Amino acid sequence: MAKQSKKCAFCGRLPDDVDMLISGIDAHICERCVDQAKTIVEEEKALEEKKKIPSFRLFKPAEIKKHLDQYVIGQEEAKKVLSVAVYNHYKRINYAHPKSGEADGVELEKSNIVMVGETGTGKTLMARTIARKMQVPFCIADATVLTEAGYVGEDVESVLVRLLQVADYNVAAAERGIVFIDELDKIARKSDNPSITRDVSGEGVQQALLKLLEGAVVNVPPQGGRKHPEQKMIQVNTQNILFICGGAFDGIEKRIMSRLQTNVIGYGSSAREEIDRDNVLQYVAPQDLKSYGLIPELVGRIPVISYLNPLDSKALRQILTEPKNALVKQYVKLFEMDNKRLLMDDSVLDYIVEKAVEFKLGARGLRSICEIIMLDAMYDIPGSDDPSDTFHLTLDYARERIEKTKKGRLRAAS
Ligand code: ADP
Repeated sequence: MAKQSKKCAFCGRLPDDVDMLISGIDAHICERCVDQAKTIVEEEKALEEKKKIPSFRLFKPAEIKKHLDQYVIGQEEAKKVLSVAVYNHYKRINYAHPKSGEADGVELEKSNIVMVGETGTGKTLMARTIARKMQVPFCIADATVLTEAGYVGEDVESVLVRLLQVADYNVAAAERGIVFIDELDKIARKSDNPSITRDVSGEGVQQALLKLLEGAVVNVPPQGGRKHPEQKMIQVNTQNILFICGGAFDGIEKRIMSRLQTNVIGYGSSAREEIDRDNVLQYVAPQDLKSYGLIPELVGRIPVISYLNPLDSKALRQILTEPKNALVKQYVKLFEMDNKRLLMDDSVLDYIVEKAVEFKLGARGLRSICEIIMLDAMYDIPGSDDPSDTFHLTLDYARERIEKTKKGRLRAAS
């Protein structure tokens, strides 16, 4: 009698039908129901976790810049501008009203940023490094693949799909993330005069981007891609997402120069002489972006503007050795893991820089050149019975590796 009254209080199974029946004060539970309950608890906990608004520390501009200094060589002005803009952005999120954006009656506007500078000068690196410091979700979108809804290509919302993915579908976290929009210059209108030749595709994408940048609630298909009617949309508010845009804006110097020259007329020749013609980019202003072909509304939504300097040989040399994750430091570590000390002559570093300049590969090419030089050593050393504990990389060795390589590979590396 007593045995028969023993059963799982959840599913009703009797002792003979289960492997285990765990006793409580007044009831029993079988192992299957324990498993099921555990799954339910875990799912609920995960759901709660996703709803939580992640808290983050508000770093001061000097702290952000100091962090950038560890990874980004030079670009002092851009680092400073970016640090202040990011600080203000997250201050706004922390203190302003979530809906109105107001703090004590003062409306704090979003400080989206645009960085103008040659490709490979550190724009993406800077945005990525800041996002890591702030510990917010970060994604990169290429403006050239974006199209207006309905055209072949990616809808502008796809940017938010990516952000949601990196935020592990935590909408609240994604809504405070950073999006880097690369190649903004490529969606510029091709003509100065919008009424004559309208580059409809470029302008259409700009309009679509504008919606994201100014802050809107966007319906995002969770799986990305085309919208399927049966897909349940996720609503993402872009109000607090920081957009950092980058572009080379090839040829913008001419426009800056002509604006500067027009402006100084009437001020006498001394003002004209003060223009540093070797680095015209430092004078870039919103009206130059407009004259380059960005619609005024979009330029208005990206109030913070900065520029990056081209990287000279000295900067490239520093990039090889100084950042926290500098290439040379990485190779030394990799060799160390195989119990080898990597000894690299200074002349090798100069040679790598020389080749990067010669093939116009910029900072991005440094890695490809290093990989070519290191390949054989990295292939042979693991498991080799060479008793020496040091691999000495000489200029002759490096030169031989590069000269044996088809030049086409180096060019393609850019
Ligand atoms: P872009 O300006 O085209 O966005 P990236 O930031 O992608 O250029 O730079 C490409 C790579 O070159 C980076 O990942 C980094 O390794 C290196 N690099 C470029 N600029 C710098 C810099 N100023 N300091 C350190 N590394 C840099």
